[in-house]
Amino acid sequence: MGEAFKAVAKSPLGLLDLPWIFVGVRTKNGYRQSFAHRLLKPRSRSGSDVNGRGETTFRRPSPVYHFRETPGVKLGFKWVQQLFYSRMIRHPAFHERIHERKSNIGRDLPDPAAEKVEDTPENWTRKVKAFALEHEADMVGITEVREEWVYEGFDVKLPWIIMEGVVQDYDKIATAPDHTTNMEVLDQYNRAHRANFDLAQWIREQGYQAERYRGFLGTTMTMIPPAIEAGLGILGKHGSMINSKHGPSFRLGYVMTDMPLIADMPDDSPVDDFCMSCQVCTRECPTGAISDEKQWVRGEKKWYVDIDKCLPFFNDTFGCNVCIAVCPFSRPGAAEPLLLKLARRRARKLGETTPAE
Ligand code: SF4
Ligand code: SF4
Repeated sequence: MGEAFKAVAKSPLGLLDLPWIFVGVRTKNGYRQSFAHRLLKPRSRSGSDVNGRGETTFRRPSPVYHFRETPGVKLGFKWVQQLFYSRMIRHPAFHERIHERKSNIGRDLPDPAAEKVEDTPENWTRKVKAFALEHEADMVGITEVREEWVYEGFDVKLPWIIMEGVVQDYDKIATAPDHTTNMEVLDQYNRAHRANFDLAQWIREQGYQAERYRGFLGTTMTMIPPAIEAGLGILGKHGSMINSKHGPSFRLGYVMTDMPLIADMPDDSPVDDFCMSCQVCTRECPTGAISDEKQWVRGEKKWYVDIDKCLPFFNDTFGCNVCIAVCPFSRPGAAEPLLLKLARRRARKLGETTPAE
């Protein structure tokens, strides 16, 4: 565990940091969750039940964790979430960043301009992407909204979703789990919120509707599936997306709109081939939450992280991030040569022309 995190854990406000009672403990048999976590988590249903692990038929996702309280929406891990925030918020550096997040997501967008600017979908797509990349986003992709991504109990009326990604600083993530990493995650989420706000505002100025991602406590939609469809990356074994240039160390946000746009294609880089034979994250995960086998989740067979194993450690370290830090695609400049090597291997196997050096 990083030195900075140890220092935080020894804070004089430390009653909520008591090992065994409020914070779990690493033992030779794995991570032992705290008494508080065991007490506060739901008894009747596991997080994986809520997520739909083992279900071979499609259904919409249900909120599990990091979700706003919404009338009519059952949030099983509500009290575990409260424990996370009550421990985290006592630290000034977190407090500042959460305050910035609140002011970002609380800002009101202007009404759409009374007159629509007319242009072709090709031109709007080009302009949206250029605007996003000039306003804090490091990556951008577009796809049509699908009902299957919208949490049950919610409704989305806008037809397009523009996914934006912001890259995290590798050196600040590499020390996970620690305070430096957690600050970097919050800083990048704040950047994503600013990027989303600016893009939504610009779209409204052109006379179109636009709604932005308002943080994990204000979302209506799972973000990884639309980001995959929009070409931002491929799901890795550790449950995070891997982008073919930036690897897995980035955060997402989105803007939904009725501006006429053109969808991107999903990426077809051989990330999955790599994950099939790599076990770095499986080995390094402190809780054994990452499986080497794909699993059925609400009608789709895919990599799945066991939330019931991950969450106690994730909570106790304010976000963990170990699996992202250790992934070979995370190191700056690593993803492109790795994928090129794999693409050449795949082409040779299929007897196709190999991609150029
Ligand atoms: S560490 Fe290896 S197996 Fe895990 S996501 Fe990264 S490449 Fe895939
Ligand atoms: S966040 Fe941490 S505990 Fe959760 S899967 Fe990744 S490495 Fe494991």
